[in-house]
Amino acid sequence: MNDPIQTCVVVAGDPAVSNLTEIARSASGHTLAVVVGPRTVADAIAGAGVHEVVWCGEPAEETPVEAYAPEVARLVTRSAPRIVVGAATPAGRALLGAVAAATGAAVLSGITAVRVEDGRVVVDQERYGGIAGRTLAVTSGPAVLAVDPGTPVVAGDAVTPVAPVTPVTVTPRDGVRITGTEPRTHDTVDLARARVVVGIGRGLKEQADLALIEDLAAALGAEIACSRPLAEGSGWVGKERYLGISGQRIAPELYLAIGISGQLQHMAGVRDARTVVAVNSDKNAPVFGRCDYGVIGDLYRIVPALTTTLKA
Ligand SMILES: Cc1cc2nc3c(=O)[nH]c(=O)nc-3n(C[C@H](O)[C@H](O)[C@H](O)COP(=O)(O)OP(=O)(O)OC[C@H]3O[C@@H](n4cnc5c(N)ncnc54)[C@H](O)[C@@H]3O)c2cc1C
Repeated sequence: MNDPIQTCVVVAGDPAVSNLTEIARSASGHTLAVVVGPRTVADAIAGAGVHEVVWCGEPAEETPVEAYAPEVARLVTRSAPRIVVGAATPAGRALLGAVAAATGAAVLSGITAVRVEDGRVVVDQERYGGIAGRTLAVTSGPAVLAVDPGTPVVAGDAVTPVAPVTPVTVTPRDGVRITGTEPRTHDTVDLARARVVVGIGRGLKEQADLALIEDLAAALGAEIACSRPLAEGSGWVGKERYLGISGQRIAPELYLAIGISGQLQHMAGVRDARTVVAVNSDKNAPVFGRCDYGVIGDLYRIVPALTTTLKA
């Protein structure tokens, strides 16, 4: 009988790794998790369907998770995995990078699924922010996969018996220290939870005109989002509010795209919205090919009219 596929889940301090453990389970082999972070995180992972947890301990306050990369790579390679899965977060990527360097493998990002076919590891990869996809077969070396992390796994939600947690003593690499931390000062909007989102684009002439959009959003009980130029270019809207392949991806019930041309790079961020309504003065704007309802017209007339109607 063939040996079971060995999968390694690399956890960089954060228990929000439901997608990682799900992908590991789908490989249907033996799964070892290597965890850097609080013991509570190791315990949560132990209840998430893995077979074994190696716990590297919790970094001291001034030590970043990244300093554990060489030791994590050593522990992972020791188990000779065919698949290594980690979170596509700054710390997760650092740990995966060390594993890849140690094994001569490439890190594959945007991975949504993994399976084993005829002894080969086959992965599905999102391209261009999910507009397209492709399938890759990893024919030699481990498949080192960066995955969107997902929701937190919680101790007590065990899907199989809780795995044993083995503490190991590892020494983080000297030479990198946290010298200061500060809270984010800007808005921390959670667009992912919003049921209705109003997106504004370069059709807006002046920053002061945002008041029109705020009125509409208030009447709809909506959050405000934008296209990239309004966040990265003019800076009229916070960077955490722009949608698209390089911004946020959301799945609201209703998305209103106002004065947005509807380039694929933007629309990739709302492709899971249930209903998309576009307002644009150019009847040939691409957004009209990518929405459920379109209104051709000047936003400076349509938005106030919509707000008045909603308020009434
Ligand atoms: C690698 C890369 C990544 C990118 N990632 C992103 C991303 O994540 N998110 C993103 O948004 N973009 C992204 N972009 C940029 C993207 O390609 C577009 O340039 C951008 O989305 C356009 O923003 P916009 O629709 O606001 O502006 P424009 O394309 O300039 O469109 C403005 C629209 O407003 C309409 N308009 C003008 N006046 C009015 C009016 N009075 N009433 C109604 N409509 C009006 C116009 O007809 C036009 O269609 C990326 C680009 C690259 C190259």
